[in-house]
Amino acid sequence: MPPLTCSAKGCRADAVWALEWNNPRLHTPERRKTWLACDEHRGSLSEFLAARGFLRDVRPVSETSEAP
Ligand SMILES: [Zn+2]
Repeated sequence: MPPLTCSAKGCRADAVWALEWNNPRLHTPERRKTWLACDEHRGSLSEFLAARGFLRDVRPVSETSEAP
């Protein structure tokens, strides 16, 4: 399994968090997309998703088996 890195643009840090989101206009309700985030970017990435009503869950990356 390749190392998981943060999804923030230009960030090479190891991902610690998995942000699970869903865009109701594009995805069926049970579908989950995953963004990975380091500690530093967890806040900004989750705010971005939450502001659009897309954020569904934030979990430690060790608890999710789903690759983005
Ligand atoms: Zn980052």
